[in-house]
Amino acid sequence: MAKVLCVLYPDPVNGYPKEYARSSVPRISGYADGQTAPTPSGVDFTPGELLGSVSGELGLRKYLEGLGHELVVTSDKEGQDSEFDRHLPDAEIVISQPFWPAYLTAERIAKAPNLKLAVTAGIGSDHVDLDAAIKHGVTVAEVTFSNSVSVAEHVVMMILSLVRNYLPSHQWVLDGGWNIADCVSRSYDLEGMDVGTVAAGRIGTAVLRRLAPFGVRLHYTDRHRLPAEVEEELNLTFHESAQAMVPNCDVVTVNAPLHPQTQGLFDDRLLSTMRHGTYLINTARGLICDRDAIVRALESGQLAGYAGDVWYPQPAPADHRWRTMPHHGMTPHISGSSLSAQARYAAGTREILESHFTGTPVRPEYLIVDGGALAGAGAHSYSTKS
Ligand code: NDP
Repeated sequence: MAKVLCVLYPDPVNGYPKEYARSSVPRISGYADGQTAPTPSGVDFTPGELLGSVSGELGLRKYLEGLGHELVVTSDKEGQDSEFDRHLPDAEIVISQPFWPAYLTAERIAKAPNLKLAVTAGIGSDHVDLDAAIKHGVTVAEVTFSNSVSVAEHVVMMILSLVRNYLPSHQWVLDGGWNIADCVSRSYDLEGMDVGTVAAGRIGTAVLRRLAPFGVRLHYTDRHRLPAEVEEELNLTFHESAQAMVPNCDVVTVNAPLHPQTQGLFDDRLLSTMRHGTYLINTARGLICDRDAIVRALESGQLAGYAGDVWYPQPAPADHRWRTMPHHGMTPHISGSSLSAQARYAAGTREILESHFTGTPVRPEYLIVDGGALAGAGAHSYSTKS
């Protein structure tokens, strides 16, 4: 029988919810590219419940224990003596979420001889050392598309929040003020601006589609070009690289995975080539942006605003400079973990586990590493160090 080790973020500080703001979530059966939403044989949760925290257990306990497997769920993931490290040596499966990542480093993978499968309950498997997973024959899978639209909506929200100066204006209300001039002295319309995405995969394309009606000029760069009809429909300008694109933009959104080609991409040099007063939104991964270079660019005014929900490390320490830098709209890593998204990635995690236990192939679109190589979606979108 297998030990399944699942690392989830802690429950709300006031305890696991007894009731919810809404009684249901819309049922999404498929995605923009025709891919179907997860199709497990069943689920043991009600969509709309909090599944991503420890007590939610991704709704997996009944299913796994029914098959005789052991499920360990913890949020204790840091340091040699963490519950995660204590259970890792005999775990067959590790499940983790990018929001509260259990970093599966090469050292940790070496200490887990039984490990066969690392599941990302969500999208983005950069918390797993993919080279080490390849070397040790560990399969890495994620629930592709499960929260792509969730993130795209968050990106659009953050672009509008920054450009229109929403958060500081809201703060004036909380503080009892009516300071219109203070609010509007940094407030603009998005209409007419140039907006570019670094990567036009599932999230990047969803962002482009949602922004098109705002009357903006849309730009993108990606390793693979979008079909000509999509470029035409959205009136997209393609650029060969981020370096070529960003000088042409007022707003830049980052939607690429973190891998050797994207780590540290937004450094002092690239930021200095952007238009003065550009807004930068990064919901992809914190390490794609150089932490201190972002602070410098905000302080100098080179960036007019920075927002996102991804940091390094996660959780971000209390003294992380992005908490206090000027003109930011940061949140904890939440964009892909709405209750709506949780229902999909919990079901997708169950689907991947069912494939593993029944010996049926995991959908190629879920695979990042398999059979000792990048595979499926991973072969398309990731790179390795070697
Ligand atoms: P996709 O795999 O659909 O898209 C990623 C795109 O990035 C692909 O089109 C890929 O290109 C492109 N890409 C990869 N490397 C580069 C590069 N060096 N330069 C330009 N483009 C590049 O993934 P999603 O859109 O679903 O997700 C993207 C990322 O967003 C995830 O990897 C994750 O890090 C992050 N994410 C964040 C979430 C959150 O809650 N904040 C939730 C979900 C995801 P191609 O394949 O054409 O080679």
